[in-house]
Amino acid sequence: MSQAAVQGTLFVISAPSGAGKTSLVAEMLRSDETLGVSVSHTTRPMREGEQNGVNYHFVSRDEFEVMIGRGDFLEHADVFGNYYGTSHVWVRETLATGRDVILEIDWQGAEQVRRLMPECVSIFIVPPSASILRERLTGRGTDAPEVVERRLAEAAEECRHAGEFDYLVVNDQFEVALADLLAITRTQRLRMQVQQARHSAVLAGLSNQG
Ligand code: GDP
Ligand code: ADP
Ligand code: 5GP
Repeated sequence: MSQAAVQGTLFVISAPSGAGKTSLVAEMLRSDETLGVSVSHTTRPMREGEQNGVNYHFVSRDEFEVMIGRGDFLEHADVFGNYYGTSHVWVRETLATGRDVILEIDWQGAEQVRRLMPECVSIFIVPPSASILRERLTGRGTDAPEVVERRLAEAAEECRHAGEFDYLVVNDQFEVALADLLAITRTQRLRMQVQQARHSAVLAGLSNQG
């Protein structure tokens, strides 16, 4: 069974800020240790409890612009007045080993990735209502009131792009949304093209018996 030839799947996950994407993805990684998540670069200030190199690579605007100039990014976008971007080296190398990779990025980044890698699988997460989104963003307690207002104002624009994604997950009950996300990653792994490549020896053996 040759594993090396099988490319992993790239999952692109977007959601309005506060929908629960970061918490859900963290739980997905705990449930399925074969999944990897790309650590983005950002110019936004670090929140309390965040660690450089773990939640994000925190860089200055000047450093980010040097990286854009060097062609380091698979995609990048201006989100809420800060730069965010996915560097392409780790993503491409990890997919080449056969591991599935998650990108937690905004709709503008998702659009760029879909163009570059049309075989990616994209998922949009929404909260059950606008009022619950406000409660979650406020309750998270990580952003100043004006930052929360800006994120809520941008939520409608993000949600207008939901129809561009392959799957929609409603994060009402956390465990249900988590099961939905894991069902999507599992279904993708069972697709005939992926399975045929992964289990070519099994299929060949069964087809040649007798
Ligand atoms: P949170 O999602 O509310 O926790 O806020 P963040 O500050 O972590 O993320 C802000 C926005 O930037 C979200 O819409 C993310 O999806 C988006 N984002 C994060 N990383 C990237 C990235 O590498 N590329 C792009 N395009 N967007 C990103
Ligand atoms: P995002 O990464 O999309 O901005 P977070 O993962 O930071 O969102 O979640 C925003 C807040 O909502 C966090 O405080 C988180 O604990 C909470 N949260 C996430 N999912 C749920 C849920 N299903 N029910 C209640 N609270 C939730
Ligand atoms: P936060 O500042 O709350 O961590 O993230 C805000 C938004 O930025 C999130 O909705 C997240 O999806 C988006 N974001 C994070 N990293 C990237 C990235 O690398 N690229 C793009 N395009 N968006 C990102």
